[in-house]
Order: sequence, then C-alpha cells, then structure tokens
Amino acid sequence: RAKSQRRGGHFFFTRCMGIETRERVRMMHALRGGFARGELFLVYQPQIDLAVRRPFGAEALLRWRTPDGSLVPPDRFIAIAEYSGLIIEIGEWVLRQACAELMRVRAAGHLDFTMSINVSQVQFRHPHFLEMLSRALEDSGAPPACIELEITESVAMEEPDVLIERLAQIKRLGVSIAIDDFGTGFSSLSYLQRLQVDRLKIDRAFVTEITGSARGSSIAEMVIELGRNLGLSIIAEGVEDERQAQILQSLGCPLAQGFLFARPLPPAQLLEWLGGTTDARAT
Ligand code: C2E
Ligand code: MG
Ligand code: MG
Ligand code: MG
Repeated sequence: RAKSQRRGGHFFFTRCMGIETRERVRMMHALRGGFARGELFLVYQPQIDLAVRRPFGAEALLRWRTPDGSLVPPDRFIAIAEYSGLIIEIGEWVLRQACAELMRVRAAGHLDFTMSINVSQVQFRHPHFLEMLSRALEDSGAPPACIELEITESVAMEEPDVLIERLAQIKRLGVSIAIDDFGTGFSSLSYLQRLQVDRLKIDRAFVTEITGSARGSSIAEMVIELGRNLGLSIIAEGVEDERQAQILQSLGCPLAQGFLFARPLPPAQLLEWLGGTTDARAT
C-alpha cells in the first residue's frame, strides 16, 4: 500500500508539475548556484542625447555566464529569479553593483552621468526595498539624483495606492523613476497622471514600427505627445538605424538608446567608449 501511494505521489508530481516546471526548478537551482559563484555580471548600454549625439547615462543590464561558457539572457532567468524569490538578493546586488559602477564613471570625470537600473516588481514590492536602495546609495556614495529606477508597465498597473506610496518614498530619496517598455500594456492613462514618474521609455516594438509602415510611427508619436503633456522625459529604446533616430528626433523624442549607438558594454569598455565622447566640461 505504501508503495502504491509512493507511486501515486510520483505520478502526481510529474503530472502536475510538467516538464516546464521541472525545467524551472532545475534552472532555479542552477541560478542560485551561479549567483553564489559570481557568474552574474552587469553590462551597461549608453543612453544618448539625440540633439548632440552624446551619452548622458547608461542602463545596467544583467548577464549570466554559466560554467560551460554560455550566456543566458535575462529574459530566460529573471522570471525564475522572481518565482523563487532569489530576485530579492540578486536585485540588491544589481543595485549595489550599478551604484559602484556609476562611481567609477564619475571618478573618470563624467559627473553628470546617470545610471538606470531595472527593478523587478517582486523586488519593488518587497517591504525592505527602500532600505536596500538607501543602503546601496549610502555605501557607494552614489548621488540619488544620478540614479533612475526602471519599472515595467505591468508593475505600474497593480494596486494603485501601494504603488503610488512606494513611488513617493523613492522620490523622497531623490531617485528618479522611468516606466520601461511603455506602450505595451497600459490600461488606464488617467492613472499614469497620478504616478510620480519622471520618464517614459518607448518600447522597442514601437521604435521598430516607425520605419515599418505608413502609420508605423503613430504609437511612438502618441507616447511622445503624452509625455510632453504630462511633463515627462521620453527615451526611445532599441534604436537600430539612423532613420529611426531621425524620425524620433523629428517627432520630438530627445533621448535614445540602441544598437545604433552602442551595445551593452562591460565596465572597462563603457569607460573606454565614454572616454572620447562625453562633454569636455565633465573632465
Ligand atoms: P529592458 O529593460 O527593456 O532592456 C532593453 C533590452 O533591449 C535589453 O535586453 C537590451 O540589451 C536590448 N536592446 C538594447 N538596444 C537594442 C537594440 O537596438 N536592438 C535590440 N534588438 N535590442 C536592444 P536584455 O539585456 O536581454 O534584457 C532584457 C530584459 O531583461 C530587460 O528589458 C529587463 O526587463 C530585464 N532585465 C535586464 N537586466 C535586469 C536587471 O538587472 N533586473 C531586472 N529585474 N530585470 C532586468
Ligand atoms: Mg530597462
Ligand atoms: Mg524596455
Ligand atoms: Mg523589457
């Protein structure tokens, strides 16, 4: 009887968890080990002021190099980190790492440089998030005014009051907030008005569409117009060619990032890349 129950248990396990979930559990263990072994690292994609074609900041992007040398993209492991709760530790490490990198860039003379950091909604909602953020700022000496947190639209949609209060707390620290992937899922535009955000990031999908069809630029246009009306900064992400950059600029989008300007760079390359391109004023 015990034996059949055990078998039943096993049957239940495989049936209900499925291949997909077992793969997730395997990834979860691999990620936990990889994080502990120092396999995660950040790369930094420059952000550009279109009018002068100069960088003003960078976005920190997470990478995972496994022992076999393969690179796992964040889209494949962030969800697992969220699901397992590991995102709290990883996210805190990202905050601290990105602040430290900002300080190295500043030490090289780029004093107006800003650092944008992606924050998962699980991390954002964590009761100790504010503490983690302020500790990262204090320990690194990074000026809050040079730090921007990127949250996605989906975070922005749930539990308005909790979100509004959290954004206000972050703003009180002096840190800026951008809504990432903007345009991909907002249900209520009037709600946006109630949020203390500083910047909208036009999702890459809408930037790609700009050159794709006759009416391809309509969503980008709408976001730019919305940002202007709400007094928000606007940045386009995923700009891959010159025509996109020019159309965006003509539509009134002042800032951009994308492969046209630079790929995400490891720290040493970021400093090298910035070396010749930033404002002389800063050096
Ligand atoms: P995201 O924050 O929207 O980041 C933009 C993504 O577009 C990055 O992918 C970047 O490498 C890519 N990208 C930039 N320019 C171009 C371009 O011109 N063309 C194309 N095709 N792609 C471009 P990545 O690095 O794979 O990151 C994917 C997503 O993973 C990010 O989307 C973000 O949501 C998440 N992520 C990355 N790092 C972190 C992190 O530290 N914490 C959290 N919570 N999420 C992160
Ligand atoms: Mg982002
Ligand atoms: Mg994005
Ligand atoms: Mg994204």
